[in-house]
Amino acid sequence: MAASNFERRFTPLIILLLVAALVVVIGLWASGRAAEQSINTGVAGAGVGDEHFHWKMVTTWPKNLPGLGSAAENFARYMDEMSGGRLTVHVYGAGEIVPAFEVFDAVSQGVADAGHGAAYYWKGKIPSAVFFTTVPFGLNAQEINGWLHYGGGLELWREAYAPFNIIPFAGGNTGVQMAGWFNREINSTEDLQGLKMRIPGLAGDVFAEAGGTAVRIPGGELYTSLQTGVIDATEWVGPYNDLALGLYEVAEYYYYPGWHEPGAMLELIVNRDSFEALPPDLQAMVTVAARAANQDMLDEFTARNNAALQDLVNNHGVKLRRLPDDVLQALYRGSEKAMRQLIAEDPLAARVYDSYKRFYDGARAYHHISEQAYINARDMVIDAEEPQQP
Ligand code: CA
Repeated sequence: MAASNFERRFTPLIILLLVAALVVVIGLWASGRAAEQSINTGVAGAGVGDEHFHWKMVTTWPKNLPGLGSAAENFARYMDEMSGGRLTVHVYGAGEIVPAFEVFDAVSQGVADAGHGAAYYWKGKIPSAVFFTTVPFGLNAQEINGWLHYGGGLELWREAYAPFNIIPFAGGNTGVQMAGWFNREINSTEDLQGLKMRIPGLAGDVFAEAGGTAVRIPGGELYTSLQTGVIDATEWVGPYNDLALGLYEVAEYYYYPGWHEPGAMLELIVNRDSFEALPPDLQAMVTVAARAANQDMLDEFTARNNAALQDLVNNHGVKLRRLPDDVLQALYRGSEKAMRQLIAEDPLAARVYDSYKRFYDGARAYHHISEQAYINARDMVIDAEEPQQP
């Protein structure tokens, strides 16, 4: 469409005048707001954003543990940077203020403002909490993030923690874990009999059902527990985090796949009073910083696990083994039984299970034609071009 000479000459000028007018109007409105705030606070020049907050964050991890421990430190850094220092978070390792397994109570009672750990550690207090970390043969990392943020999971988690004055956020994900460290080969379910293993959550019940003994020990004590024979086996996370704990020095066999933790989600918990004391902009930053820390952990594990595995196998003599199919099948049957028992005993766990299972069925069906189909196709075409050497 042709423009007239008049339009060509004067349209830019008119736009410039309109923008200038808008700037003046916004400026007047903003100075009016600032004046209102000065009156409200009674302090000349003070705005919403001038108050400073200092949080204590307790964690279930040793201080400065790579991987799992990085989320709390990242959260603190993001908050400091985004808020210009208006909310600073001091991170304490397990045992510095409270022991690892007292993190939940410390945040609930306001001893600390926030905490970082894993929901399934609180299973004895809140049976439904296992769903908010991981359950055997359950959702992977991508799926649990989908369920939590778009499938109703977060609302149920907040309901479960509300009686404890705690607001939970997703605080990281390990991706698929390893099945764990053993000092004997696992060739059948017979080899699990009498085995004392550190394995938390619903998987602990499954392991006990399979003939072993499940114990709950914080990460910082695993090396010594395995070394002194307090336990015969342990699961922890995956190559990157297990290398950091030095578990290869006290166990010979490293088993996969992590049937029991296919996408363990960590938690970042905040005392409700501490959260509600923040102005809305800092509350929004807490939400965004947690979301960023959640994704960052998965990214880091994805980037570092393979190099750590190569180091374990090639430089530390670790023997990598896959759990036999019949052992996995037996563990699956045990998982179904443990799940039925959990939801029969706890009404909230039953409601969470309904939501989780609905999402799970849909995700599994769709992954048949998406993630799973793609990975199978990728292997198929590459293997066809590069036949395995005998
Ligand atoms: Ca684990």
